[in-house]
Amino acid sequence: MLNCRKATRLLSDRLDRPLTLKENVHLKIHLLWCSGCRNFGGHMHRMRNISRGFVDFGADDTTPDGGE
Ligand SMILES: [Zn+2]
Repeated sequence: MLNCRKATRLLSDRLDRPLTLKENVHLKIHLLWCSGCRNFGGHMHRMRNISRGFVDFGADDTTPDGGE
């Protein structure tokens, strides 16, 4: 059975690589009864999206503002 430490590890690994079927099943089962890790996973996902958004925003933010 997965403990919280391993579950959060898998949640962060999942962003960088596809999990194996076994890892996925264990993680899903853990998330069914552990709301803490469920929240952590959701938070992690949002953080990843936000940091992506910042990269895009940074690129768009370099609009030239020198013209008359
Ligand atoms: Zn947990």
